[in-house]
Amino acid sequence: MYKRKLYLFGLLSTFILLIALASAAVSAHLTRANLKQSQLAQSLLSEHQQLSSISYRLFKQLTDELIFGKNANQAKVRNKQQQIQQSLVRIKQFELAQREALGIEATQGSVEDTDELEALIAEIVNEFRAIAQSNDSAPLYEQQRLQTLLESTIDNQFREAINSAVTRQTRVVSRINASIETLNTSIVWFTICLGIITCPFILLGCFWLFNSLYQPLTVIRTGTDAIASGNYDYRLPETLDDEFTDLVKALNSMITRLAEHEDKADAYRKQLEFEVETRTRALKEANSKLTQIDAKRRQFMADVSHELRTPLTIIRGEAQVTLRQRSATNEIYQETLETVLEQAINLSKLVDDLLLLARAEMHEFTLDLAKTNLKTLLEQQTSTWQKVTKPREFKLEWAVNRNVIVFIDEGRLLQALTILIENAHKYSHEGQPITLKVSSNNDWVTLSVIDIGDGISSGDLEHVFERFVRLKRKGDGMGLGLSIAKAIAEAHGGKLEAHSTLGKGSEFMLAIKASPDSE
Ligand code: ADP
Repeated sequence: MYKRKLYLFGLLSTFILLIALASAAVSAHLTRANLKQSQLAQSLLSEHQQLSSISYRLFKQLTDELIFGKNANQAKVRNKQQQIQQSLVRIKQFELAQREALGIEATQGSVEDTDELEALIAEIVNEFRAIAQSNDSAPLYEQQRLQTLLESTIDNQFREAINSAVTRQTRVVSRINASIETLNTSIVWFTICLGIITCPFILLGCFWLFNSLYQPLTVIRTGTDAIASGNYDYRLPETLDDEFTDLVKALNSMITRLAEHEDKADAYRKQLEFEVETRTRALKEANSKLTQIDAKRRQFMADVSHELRTPLTIIRGEAQVTLRQRSATNEIYQETLETVLEQAINLSKLVDDLLLLARAEMHEFTLDLAKTNLKTLLEQQTSTWQKVTKPREFKLEWAVNRNVIVFIDEGRLLQALTILIENAHKYSHEGQPITLKVSSNNDWVTLSVIDIGDGISSGDLEHVFERFVRLKRKGDGMGLGLSIAKAIAEAHGGKLEAHSTLGKGSEFMLAIKASPDSE
């Protein structure tokens, strides 16, 4: 846990700081105590010097008394004595305080010597008084007692006492100075040792903390680089400190979601590409169909024009030739009119056929539907067809045992069957029979026109239902018969199909729905 590592490092740093602070506090305390003692010693020194100076001035005053008489400046003497007394009191206080701080060993003799010094000063003053009151009539410089006092007591004893006190305090001061020096040296070494010991720890701690931060950051950076380059399979390791593991988990789940989005986008893109491809293909097919339809339409227009022009040319030619003849007889006019009528009938038939096909194409082919017994209808028509197919044999065959009722436009159905029978007649030879076979399969009734004539090749068979297609130009057909028959079948909701083998014959099957009323 990175937070715990930070706390640990902070704790270590605080501990080291506390040690440094404690050592600083201890050294400050010791230094202050030493300084205080040093000041005390300095005060004692100066106090002793002052005592010495006042004492000498007192002794001089007392000497003056001896020399100049009793009344010589008594007030000054008392003042000096008072000052000496105060100085001694202060010295004793300082010495007691010093003893208390430094111990009896370091201050040995100080308090005792001061008592002796006080006694010595009192003794000297008393001796002066005693000399002054003595009846010695000898001159002062000859008095033994005065000599002893001045030379032995004041010069030697008093000065020595003062000197020894000064020496003692000088010793104390130098000891304190030595102690301060030692303390300073100790502080310097302690600081150096503390630095030497703690510096590696702090450096190691910094390195440790830096690594703990840098390594996860490197891992995260590598991961984000991989994601940025589109590698959504990359997963960051979840084995870092808790704080970074949370971040890594969040990043990993983000990558998973990104990968899902990418997959979806990929799927959508593929789907879109597929749809575009499908649509393009459909459009191409539609375009090619349209092109074919357009080509057929042009062809149809050309065929229609051609078919219309032929009878019109005949009509015009016949009329012109007849009118140009100056001596045309009634028979000639009769013949011309007959030819014109015949061509007009042909034209009108052609126009009817075209109209029928156009309506069928526009789904506007209207039928006059009625329930019809198929057997009755076909049998009535058989003799007519037999006349059409003569000398070929025409047979009506029944492969149905029941009476089939159909819902049809009788005229149109017979028209379609007649086209098929006429074709069978046209494309077969004398002696080859033609059969109209009626069969049924579930709800469907099939009327098959079968011949064993020329037949149609499989390549041509797929085009025979197209308009104006004529494979063999036999008879007066215009290539519209099968188109019309197919249109009639489809208008009845049925279909027209063909099976044929070249040279063996053909079978055209017209299928329509039987009415449920069939028995
Ligand atoms: P047509 O007026 O030429 O008969 P159709 O549309 O009726 O026009 O027929 C188209 C073509 O189909 C014919 O030219 C012919 O070659 C072929 N065909 C139609 N019926 C038969 C058949 N029973 N046997 C062989 N060929 C046939």
